[in-house]
Amino acid sequence: MKSFRKELVFEVKERREYINITRQVNQCLAESGITEGLLLVNAMHITASVFINDDESGLHRDFETWLEKLAPEKPHSQYHHNGYEDNADAHLKRSIMGREVVVAITNGALDFGPWEQIFYGEFDGKRKKRVLVKIIGE
Ligand code: ZN
Repeated sequence: MKSFRKELVFEVKERREYINITRQVNQCLAESGITEGLLLVNAMHITASVFINDDESGLHRDFETWLEKLAPEKPHSQYHHNGYEDNADAHLKRSIMGREVVVAITNGALDFGPWEQIFYGEFDGKRKKRVLVKIIGE
């Protein structure tokens, strides 16, 4: 069995943003030389997510609206967590959107359903954050 590990780094200028990282993940898969197995992608920070969905800008605006209804950023004082920080909403948004995705690798490619793409969701940006890619298989 082969194993591959790589960290991707993102520095997002806005507090919140969704980035399609499918191309970078495909590059990792090519580098790994693995053609059958499993691929894991996870955010290495508790205020960011990795998730799979459609690359459609209207949907991304809908995510933003929906998440702001569930866990509005402001006022910062509404959250117990925000004693020394202002990112309680980002922790909650990350919990809803998830930590990681696992994708099957078949014949050297990500075995996606229709329209599936991998996204990095940033909820407390303006600093460097890491995403782990781990691939196992043969
Ligand atoms: Zn925090």
